[in-house]
Amino acid sequence: MRLYVNDVAVRDGFQIEKSFVPTATKVELINQLSRTGLHRIEVTSFVSPKAVPMLADAVDVLSGIDRVPGVTYVALVPNLRGVHNAAAAPKRPDELNGVVSASETHNRANINRTHEQSLAELPAMVRAAHEAGMKITMSLSTTFGCPFEGHVHEDVVLDFVGNFVREGFDGISLADTTGMANPRQVRELVRKVLERFPPPNETYYTLHFHNTRGMGLANVVAGIEAGVRSFDGSVSGLGGCPFAPGATGNICTEDMVNMLEDMGYDTRVDLAKLLAVARRIPAVVGHETPGQVMRAGRTLELHDPPELLRDK
Ligand code: ZN
Repeated sequence: MRLYVNDVAVRDGFQIEKSFVPTATKVELINQLSRTGLHRIEVTSFVSPKAVPMLADAVDVLSGIDRVPGVTYVALVPNLRGVHNAAAAPKRPDELNGVVSASETHNRANINRTHEQSLAELPAMVRAAHEAGMKITMSLSTTFGCPFEGHVHEDVVLDFVGNFVREGFDGISLADTTGMANPRQVRELVRKVLERFPPPNETYYTLHFHNTRGMGLANVVAGIEAGVRSFDGSVSGLGGCPFAPGATGNICTEDMVNMLEDMGYDTRVDLAKLLAVARRIPAVVGHETPGQVMRAGRTLELHDPPELLRDK
């Protein structure tokens, strides 16, 4: 079975880092990631440079990167202004990704808006993106739980998804923003979403998990069982959470690819090339990152037997 793997390290992963990663380094990493077989790469975000100084170089990143055929280059946009700024860039992203939180408190904390304000802008965002020749998808943050409000009711999630479908978004991402999802919940909720709003294509729905509590890869498996084929990860497991200091970030892309390929799924990702990128990240950010396969080696990277056995 074909699965689609996306990487969000340069956006979701870097945005929490304290020291600015130079634009040239970002461009180089994206160019290297572009040649690993990934389906989609989230390369930057059109947010206020005051709110997220790390991503103030959105236009330069988009101008600097190679566009490798077959890869979709994505930028996050929190609002209509973000769409207009992306449309005005000399080299536009292929796809935009809007964001609303299922919980009202998180929506205010994250993008400083009420649900009403966020929803009111959706039709104009879709129109502006399509007029500029860009696709636009929508992410529902805190789908599986909110760090301020706790459990998010399933009907709230279904209402938002219905809204995004009606407004004509090109895809929907269900995001476990602070790593609160568990596999049973993922299987049940995602099944309901897909039954109620069947996807027009294999990549219409994406699942975006954080590994904050160690359930990230189990949630991927639950998502596959529920019918989703597209998954976000962050190379070397880069990332964190502004509300939970010390928490790990997104699930690690190469750990996910290693697992999926071991399970017999076809990701089209060259794991050796992806590992080469992952192993560069600690030096780029100046600290260790949580990726596990980058340390242990891929499952079938065999070792010589101990001396003792070889002599027999
Ligand atoms: Zn995230």
